[in-house]
Amino acid sequence: MIEPVISKISPGIQHYAWGGTKFIPDWLGIENKADKPYAEAWYGDHPLAPAQLEDNQHTHLDQWIASNPVAILGAESVDVYGPRMPFLLKILDVRNMLSLQLHPSKNGAIKGFALENEMHIPLLSPNRNYKDSNHKPELLFALSDFWMLQGFATMEVIKTRFEALLPQFEWSSNYSWRTLMARIWALDSELYLGYLDTITHQIQSQNCGDKDDIYHWIEKALQSYPYASGSPDRGVLVMMLMHVQYLKPGQVGYQAPGVLHAYLEGQNIELMANSDNVLRGGLTPKHIDPAELMLHLDTTSPGQCLLSPIYLMDDELAFSPPVHDFLLKYYPLKHGSTKTIQSNTVSVMLVQKGKLVYNGAVLSDGESLIIPAFSILNIECISTHAAFFWATGSL
Ligand SMILES: [Zn+2]
Repeated sequence: MIEPVISKISPGIQHYAWGGTKFIPDWLGIENKADKPYAEAWYGDHPLAPAQLEDNQHTHLDQWIASNPVAILGAESVDVYGPRMPFLLKILDVRNMLSLQLHPSKNGAIKGFALENEMHIPLLSPNRNYKDSNHKPELLFALSDFWMLQGFATMEVIKTRFEALLPQFEWSSNYSWRTLMARIWALDSELYLGYLDTITHQIQSQNCGDKDDIYHWIEKALQSYPYASGSPDRGVLVMMLMHVQYLKPGQVGYQAPGVLHAYLEGQNIELMANSDNVLRGGLTPKHIDPAELMLHLDTTSPGQCLLSPIYLMDDELAFSPPVHDFLLKYYPLKHGSTKTIQSNTVSVMLVQKGKLVYNGAVLSDGESLIIPAFSILNIECISTHAAFFWATGSL
Protein backbone atom coordinates (compact mmCIF):
# COMPACT_ATOMS: atom_id res chain seq x y z
CA MET A 1 0.00 0.00 0.00
CA ILE A 2 1.29 3.47 -0.92
CA GLU A 3 1.13 5.95 1.92
CA PRO A 4 -1.76 8.43 1.85
CA VAL A 5 0.49 11.51 1.86
CA ILE A 6 0.57 14.74 -0.16
CA SER A 7 2.09 13.86 -3.54
CA LYS A 8 2.91 15.48 -6.87
CA ILE A 9 0.73 14.20 -9.72
CA SER A 10 0.68 14.39 -13.50
CA PRO A 11 -2.67 14.53 -15.30
CA GLY A 12 -4.34 11.99 -17.57
CA ILE A 13 -4.43 13.45 -21.11
CA GLN A 14 -7.31 13.26 -23.59
CA HIS A 15 -6.19 13.82 -27.19
CA TYR A 16 -9.63 14.62 -28.64
CA ALA A 17 -9.45 16.04 -32.17
CA TRP A 18 -11.02 19.38 -31.15
CA GLY A 19 -8.12 20.23 -28.82
CA GLY A 20 -5.29 22.70 -29.35
CA THR A 21 -1.71 21.49 -29.70
CA LYS A 22 0.17 24.06 -27.61
CA PHE A 23 -1.59 25.30 -24.48
CA ILE A 24 -1.60 22.12 -22.37
CA PRO A 25 1.93 20.97 -23.42
CA ASP A 26 3.19 24.48 -22.53
CA TRP A 27 1.34 24.37 -19.18
CA LEU A 28 2.93 21.00 -18.39
CA GLY A 29 6.34 21.98 -19.75
CA ILE A 30 6.46 19.09 -22.22
CA GLU A 31 7.30 18.97 -25.93
CA ASN A 32 4.64 18.07 -28.46
CA LYS A 33 6.85 17.14 -31.41
CA ALA A 34 4.11 15.10 -33.10
CA ASP A 35 1.77 18.12 -32.92
CA LYS A 36 -0.95 15.96 -31.34
CA PRO A 37 -4.08 17.67 -30.03
CA TYR A 38 -4.04 18.02 -26.25
CA ALA A 39 -7.73 18.68 -25.57
CA GLU A 40 -8.02 17.96 -21.85
CA ALA A 41 -5.76 17.30 -18.88
CA TRP A 42 -7.61 15.41 -16.12
CA TYR A 43 -6.58 15.78 -12.48
CA GLY A 44 -8.69 13.07 -10.90
CA ASP A 45 -9.37 9.37 -10.43
CA HIS A 46 -11.66 8.87 -13.45
CA PRO A 47 -10.70 5.42 -14.83
CA LEU A 48 -10.76 6.67 -18.46
CA ALA A 49 -7.79 8.99 -17.84
CA PRO A 50 -6.62 8.88 -14.23
CA ALA A 51 -3.90 11.22 -13.03
CA GLN A 52 -0.69 9.50 -11.87
CA LEU A 53 1.39 9.89 -8.74
CA GLU A 54 4.91 11.02 -9.59
CA ASP A 55 6.37 7.94 -7.89
CA ASN A 56 8.50 5.24 -9.50
CA GLN A 57 5.45 3.17 -10.44
CA HIS A 58 3.38 6.10 -11.81
CA THR A 59 0.53 4.77 -9.69
CA HIS A 60 -2.87 5.71 -11.08
CA LEU A 61 -4.99 7.77 -8.70
CA ASP A 62 -7.94 5.37 -8.93
CA GLN A 63 -5.71 2.48 -7.80
CA TRP A 64 -4.10 4.58 -5.08
CA ILE A 65 -7.50 5.62 -3.71
CA ALA A 66 -8.89 2.07 -3.92
CA SER A 67 -5.98 0.90 -1.72
CA ASN A 68 -6.99 3.21 1.13
CA PRO A 69 -10.21 5.16 0.42
CA VAL A 70 -11.06 6.30 3.94
CA ALA A 71 -7.56 7.66 4.67
CA ILE A 72 -7.39 9.52 1.34
CA LEU A 73 -10.98 10.71 0.86
CA GLY A 74 -12.12 10.96 4.50
CA ALA A 75 -14.87 8.79 6.02
CA GLU A 76 -17.64 11.34 5.43
CA SER A 77 -16.81 11.70 1.74
CA VAL A 78 -16.81 7.91 1.31
CA ASP A 79 -20.25 7.80 3.01
CA VAL A 80 -21.69 10.48 0.73
CA TYR A 81 -19.91 9.92 -2.62
CA GLY A 82 -18.57 6.38 -2.36
CA PRO A 83 -14.91 5.29 -2.64
CA ARG A 84 -13.95 7.80 -5.37
CA MET A 85 -13.23 11.50 -5.62
CA PRO A 86 -16.39 13.63 -5.48
CA PHE A 87 -15.13 15.89 -8.29
CA LEU A 88 -13.01 15.95 -11.43
CA LEU A 89 -10.73 18.91 -12.20
CA LYS A 90 -9.57 19.51 -15.79
CA ILE A 91 -7.71 21.94 -18.01
CA LEU A 92 -9.39 22.33 -21.41
CA ASP A 93 -7.99 23.80 -24.64
CA VAL A 94 -10.88 24.25 -27.07
CA ARG A 95 -9.68 24.88 -30.63
CA ASN A 96 -12.84 23.66 -32.40
CA MET A 97 -16.32 23.91 -30.93
CA LEU A 98 -17.69 21.03 -28.86
CA SER A 99 -21.13 19.42 -29.07
CA LEU A 100 -24.31 21.07 -27.83
CA GLN A 101 -25.20 19.35 -24.58
CA LEU A 102 -26.88 19.46 -21.23
CA HIS A 103 -26.50 17.45 -18.04
CA PRO A 104 -29.34 15.89 -16.04
CA SER A 105 -30.26 16.73 -12.47
CA LYS A 106 -29.38 14.26 -9.71
CA ASN A 107 -32.95 12.87 -9.65
CA GLY A 108 -33.07 12.74 -13.44
CA ALA A 109 -29.79 10.80 -13.53
CA ILE A 110 -30.94 8.30 -10.89
CA LYS A 111 -34.16 7.62 -12.84
CA GLY A 112 -32.52 7.55 -16.29
CA PHE A 113 -29.69 5.25 -15.18
CA ALA A 114 -32.12 2.80 -13.51
CA LEU A 115 -34.41 2.79 -16.58
CA GLU A 116 -31.59 2.07 -19.04
CA ASN A 117 -30.37 -0.72 -16.72
CA GLU A 118 -33.88 -2.21 -16.70
CA MET A 119 -33.89 -2.02 -20.51
CA HIS A 120 -30.55 -3.96 -20.50
CA ILE A 121 -28.77 -1.33 -22.63
CA PRO A 122 -25.07 -2.21 -22.15
CA LEU A 123 -23.12 0.41 -20.20
CA LEU A 124 -20.67 0.89 -23.09
CA SER A 125 -23.36 1.02 -25.81
CA PRO A 126 -23.12 4.19 -27.94
CA ASN A 127 -26.92 4.50 -27.60
CA ARG A 128 -26.75 4.78 -23.85
CA ASN A 129 -27.59 8.22 -22.33
CA TYR A 130 -26.70 7.48 -18.70
CA LYS A 131 -23.29 6.09 -17.72
CA ASP A 132 -23.91 6.51 -13.97
CA SER A 133 -26.53 7.78 -11.52
CA ASN A 134 -24.88 11.11 -10.73
CA HIS A 135 -25.57 14.68 -11.87
CA LYS A 136 -22.79 16.65 -13.60
CA PRO A 137 -22.91 20.33 -12.70
CA GLU A 138 -19.91 22.16 -14.23
CA LEU A 139 -17.94 25.23 -13.29
CA LEU A 140 -15.39 26.84 -15.60
CA PHE A 141 -12.69 29.42 -14.86
CA ALA A 142 -11.59 31.15 -18.07
CA LEU A 143 -7.80 31.11 -18.56
CA SER A 144 -8.05 33.07 -21.84
CA ASP A 145 -10.74 34.94 -23.76
CA PHE A 146 -13.40 32.26 -23.83
CA TRP A 147 -16.60 31.87 -25.86
CA MET A 148 -19.42 29.45 -25.26
CA LEU A 149 -23.09 28.97 -26.00
CA GLN A 150 -24.97 29.00 -22.73
CA GLY A 151 -28.76 28.92 -22.46
CA PHE A 152 -31.16 30.84 -24.69
CA ALA A 153 -31.08 34.24 -26.40
CA THR A 154 -34.18 36.45 -26.05
CA MET A 155 -37.08 35.67 -28.38
CA GLU A 156 -36.54 39.06 -30.02
CA VAL A 157 -32.94 38.20 -30.90
CA ILE A 158 -33.96 34.73 -32.11
CA LYS A 159 -36.63 36.23 -34.38
CA THR A 160 -34.07 38.62 -35.93
CA ARG A 161 -31.74 35.66 -36.64
CA PHE A 162 -34.50 33.65 -38.33
CA GLU A 163 -35.47 36.67 -40.46
CA ALA A 164 -31.83 37.08 -41.53
CA LEU A 165 -30.88 33.43 -42.16
CA LEU A 166 -34.14 31.61 -42.84
CA PRO A 167 -36.74 34.02 -44.23
CA GLN A 168 -39.08 31.20 -45.34
CA PHE A 169 -39.49 29.97 -41.75
CA GLU A 170 -42.97 31.00 -40.65
CA TRP A 171 -42.59 32.94 -37.45
CA SER A 172 -45.34 32.88 -34.85
CA SER A 173 -45.67 35.23 -31.90
CA ASN A 174 -46.69 32.14 -29.89
CA TYR A 175 -43.24 30.59 -30.16
CA SER A 176 -41.31 29.88 -26.98
CA TRP A 177 -37.88 28.30 -26.48
CA ARG A 178 -39.57 24.97 -25.85
CA THR A 179 -41.92 25.03 -28.84
CA LEU A 180 -39.10 26.13 -31.17
CA MET A 181 -36.84 23.34 -29.93
CA ALA A 182 -39.64 20.82 -30.38
CA ARG A 183 -40.26 22.10 -33.93
CA ILE A 184 -36.59 21.73 -34.81
CA TRP A 185 -36.59 18.07 -33.74
CA ALA A 186 -39.87 17.37 -35.54
CA LEU A 187 -38.70 18.83 -38.90
CA ASP A 188 -38.71 16.51 -41.86
CA SER A 189 -35.10 15.72 -42.90
CA GLU A 190 -35.59 16.91 -46.50
CA LEU A 191 -37.07 20.20 -45.33
CA TYR A 192 -34.25 20.64 -42.82
CA LEU A 193 -31.58 20.06 -45.48
CA GLY A 194 -33.31 22.74 -47.58
CA TYR A 195 -33.17 25.08 -44.58
CA LEU A 196 -29.44 24.39 -44.26
CA ASP A 197 -28.94 25.37 -47.90
CA THR A 198 -30.73 28.67 -47.27
CA ILE A 199 -28.73 29.32 -44.08
CA THR A 200 -25.47 28.52 -45.91
CA HIS A 201 -26.44 31.04 -48.61
CA GLN A 202 -27.79 33.75 -46.30
CA ILE A 203 -24.84 33.61 -43.86
CA GLN A 204 -22.63 35.07 -46.60
CA SER A 205 -24.43 38.42 -46.30
CA GLN A 206 -23.82 38.59 -42.53
CA ASN A 207 -20.78 40.00 -40.78
CA CYS A 208 -19.22 36.81 -39.42
CA GLY A 209 -16.06 38.37 -37.97
CA ASP A 210 -17.38 39.12 -34.49
CA LYS A 211 -16.97 36.22 -32.04
CA ASP A 212 -19.61 37.71 -29.72
CA ASP A 213 -22.13 37.15 -32.48
CA ILE A 214 -23.84 33.85 -33.31
CA TYR A 215 -23.23 34.31 -37.06
CA HIS A 216 -19.48 33.78 -36.58
CA TRP A 217 -20.10 30.41 -34.93
CA ILE A 218 -22.85 29.29 -37.31
CA GLU A 219 -20.50 29.93 -40.24
CA LYS A 220 -17.83 27.87 -38.48
CA ALA A 221 -20.29 25.05 -37.70
CA LEU A 222 -21.42 24.94 -41.34
CA GLN A 223 -17.79 24.49 -42.40
CA SER A 224 -16.99 21.87 -39.75
CA TYR A 225 -20.00 19.58 -40.09
CA PRO A 226 -21.02 18.06 -43.42
CA TYR A 227 -24.71 17.41 -42.80
CA ALA A 228 -25.55 15.77 -46.10
CA SER A 229 -26.45 12.21 -45.24
CA GLY A 230 -28.76 10.17 -43.02
CA SER A 231 -30.64 11.94 -40.29
CA PRO A 232 -29.05 15.37 -40.39
CA ASP A 233 -27.61 16.93 -37.25
CA ARG A 234 -29.94 19.74 -36.08
CA GLY A 235 -27.19 21.64 -34.28
CA VAL A 236 -27.03 24.62 -36.64
CA LEU A 237 -30.71 25.40 -36.16
CA VAL A 238 -30.46 24.86 -32.38
CA MET A 239 -27.57 27.37 -32.35
CA MET A 240 -29.96 30.03 -33.66
CA LEU A 241 -31.82 29.87 -30.33
CA MET A 242 -28.76 30.17 -28.12
CA HIS A 243 -26.95 32.92 -26.27
CA VAL A 244 -23.25 33.56 -27.02
CA GLN A 245 -21.49 34.02 -23.67
CA TYR A 246 -18.06 35.64 -23.58
CA LEU A 247 -15.85 35.25 -20.51
CA LYS A 248 -12.70 37.27 -20.00
CA PRO A 249 -9.73 35.60 -18.26
CA GLY A 250 -10.58 35.06 -14.60
CA GLN A 251 -14.34 35.03 -15.08
CA VAL A 252 -16.21 31.96 -13.90
CA GLY A 253 -19.29 30.36 -15.44
CA TYR A 254 -21.57 27.65 -14.10
CA GLN A 255 -23.84 25.19 -15.89
CA ALA A 256 -26.84 24.18 -13.84
CA PRO A 257 -28.68 20.93 -14.71
CA GLY A 258 -30.83 21.24 -17.84
CA VAL A 259 -29.00 24.26 -19.29
CA LEU A 260 -28.02 23.69 -22.92
CA HIS A 261 -24.41 24.72 -23.64
CA ALA A 262 -21.42 24.26 -25.95
CA TYR A 263 -17.82 25.38 -25.56
CA LEU A 264 -16.73 27.31 -28.64
CA GLU A 265 -13.13 28.51 -28.23
CA GLY A 266 -10.50 29.20 -25.59
CA GLN A 267 -8.89 27.66 -22.54
CA ASN A 268 -10.34 27.05 -19.11
CA ILE A 269 -10.11 25.20 -15.83
CA GLU A 270 -13.17 23.03 -15.46
CA LEU A 271 -14.46 21.52 -12.23
CA MET A 272 -17.38 19.12 -12.22
CA ALA A 273 -19.10 16.37 -10.29
CA ASN A 274 -17.67 12.93 -11.03
CA SER A 275 -20.10 11.79 -13.75
CA ASP A 276 -20.23 11.07 -17.50
CA ASN A 277 -23.88 11.90 -18.02
CA VAL A 278 -24.25 14.00 -21.17
CA LEU A 279 -27.41 14.50 -23.24
CA ARG A 280 -26.37 15.88 -26.64
CA GLY A 281 -28.27 18.37 -28.75
CA GLY A 282 -26.26 18.54 -31.97
CA LEU A 283 -22.88 19.37 -33.56
CA THR A 284 -21.72 15.80 -32.98
CA PRO A 285 -21.63 12.41 -34.69
CA LYS A 286 -22.44 10.83 -31.30
CA HIS A 287 -25.81 9.55 -30.09
CA ILE A 288 -28.62 12.12 -29.81
CA ASP A 289 -31.89 11.30 -28.06
CA PRO A 290 -34.22 14.27 -28.70
CA ALA A 291 -37.02 12.99 -26.43
CA GLU A 292 -34.66 12.57 -23.47
CA LEU A 293 -33.04 15.94 -24.19
CA MET A 294 -36.42 17.69 -24.20
CA LEU A 295 -37.39 15.94 -20.96
CA HIS A 296 -34.38 17.45 -19.18
CA LEU A 297 -34.12 20.79 -21.00
CA ASP A 298 -34.71 23.75 -18.70
CA THR A 299 -36.77 26.37 -20.55
CA THR A 300 -37.93 28.21 -17.44
CA SER A 301 -35.02 30.68 -17.52
CA PRO A 302 -32.44 31.85 -20.09
CA GLY A 303 -29.83 29.80 -18.20
CA GLN A 304 -26.82 32.13 -18.30
CA CYS A 305 -24.83 32.04 -15.07
CA LEU A 306 -21.57 33.76 -14.11
CA LEU A 307 -20.34 33.20 -10.54
CA SER A 308 -18.88 36.18 -8.67
CA PRO A 309 -15.84 35.45 -6.53
CA ILE A 310 -16.22 35.53 -2.77
CA TYR A 311 -13.14 37.42 -1.51
CA LEU A 312 -12.17 35.55 1.66
CA MET A 313 -8.97 37.66 1.62
CA ASP A 314 -7.27 39.83 -1.04
CA ASP A 315 -5.36 36.76 -2.19
CA GLU A 316 -7.99 34.07 -1.59
CA LEU A 317 -11.04 33.91 -3.89
CA ALA A 318 -13.73 31.25 -3.59
CA PHE A 319 -16.20 30.18 -6.27
CA SER A 320 -19.00 28.22 -4.74
CA PRO A 321 -21.72 26.84 -7.02
CA PRO A 322 -25.15 25.91 -5.61
CA VAL A 323 -24.17 22.21 -5.33
CA HIS A 324 -22.31 20.31 -2.64
CA ASP A 325 -20.00 18.23 -4.79
CA PHE A 326 -17.13 20.71 -5.16
CA LEU A 327 -15.60 24.09 -4.44
CA LEU A 328 -12.90 26.03 -6.31
CA LYS A 329 -10.51 28.56 -4.80
CA TYR A 330 -7.97 30.76 -6.55
CA TYR A 331 -4.94 32.21 -4.74
CA PRO A 332 -3.02 35.05 -6.45
CA LEU A 333 -0.02 35.45 -4.11
CA LYS A 334 2.84 37.93 -3.69
CA HIS A 335 6.41 37.17 -2.62
CA GLY A 336 6.59 36.04 1.01
CA SER A 337 2.87 35.51 1.55
CA THR A 338 1.85 32.25 3.20
CA LYS A 339 -1.27 30.08 3.31
CA THR A 340 -2.34 27.08 5.36
CA ILE A 341 -4.91 24.87 3.68
CA GLN A 342 -6.85 21.85 4.87
CA SER A 343 -10.00 20.04 3.77
CA ASN A 344 -12.17 17.27 5.23
CA THR A 345 -11.93 15.47 1.90
CA VAL A 346 -9.38 15.03 -0.87
CA SER A 347 -8.21 18.12 -2.79
CA VAL A 348 -6.12 18.98 -5.82
CA MET A 349 -3.82 21.96 -6.25
CA LEU A 350 -2.64 23.33 -9.63
CA VAL A 351 0.07 25.99 -9.89
CA GLN A 352 -0.74 28.44 -12.68
CA LYS A 353 2.33 30.66 -12.34
CA GLY A 354 5.34 31.37 -10.14
CA LYS A 355 7.15 29.27 -7.53
CA LEU A 356 5.91 28.06 -4.18
CA VAL A 357 7.28 26.08 -1.29
CA TYR A 358 4.91 23.52 0.24
CA ASN A 359 5.79 21.64 3.43
CA GLY A 360 9.49 22.19 2.64
CA ALA A 361 9.47 21.17 -1.08
CA VAL A 362 9.41 23.43 -4.18
CA LEU A 363 6.46 23.55 -6.55
CA SER A 364 6.66 25.43 -9.88
CA ASP A 365 4.13 26.61 -12.47
CA GLY A 366 2.42 23.70 -14.22
CA GLU A 367 2.95 21.32 -11.30
CA SER A 368 0.14 19.86 -9.23
CA LEU A 369 -0.53 18.05 -5.97
CA ILE A 370 -3.06 15.59 -4.61
CA ILE A 371 -3.79 16.24 -0.94
CA PRO A 372 -5.48 13.55 1.19
CA ALA A 373 -8.31 14.51 3.56
CA PHE A 374 -7.20 16.42 6.70
CA SER A 375 -3.55 16.75 5.52
CA ILE A 376 -2.20 20.22 6.23
CA LEU A 377 -0.64 22.11 3.35
CA ASN A 378 1.64 25.02 4.27
CA ILE A 379 2.37 27.22 1.26
CA GLU A 380 4.83 30.10 0.81
CA CYS A 381 5.26 32.19 -2.35
CA ILE A 382 8.97 32.45 -3.24
CA SER A 383 8.70 34.22 -6.63
CA THR A 384 7.61 37.85 -7.18
CA HIS A 385 4.10 36.59 -7.92
CA ALA A 386 2.49 33.18 -8.00
CA ALA A 387 -1.03 31.87 -8.45
CA PHE A 388 -2.64 28.52 -7.86
CA PHE A 389 -6.01 26.78 -8.03
CA TRP A 390 -7.29 24.56 -5.27
CA ALA A 391 -10.28 22.28 -5.76
CA THR A 392 -11.97 20.15 -3.16
CA GLY A 393 -15.20 18.35 -2.40
CA SER A 394 -17.75 20.24 -0.40
CA LEU A 395 -19.41 18.21 2.37
ZN1 LIG B 1 -21.11 20.19 -20.31
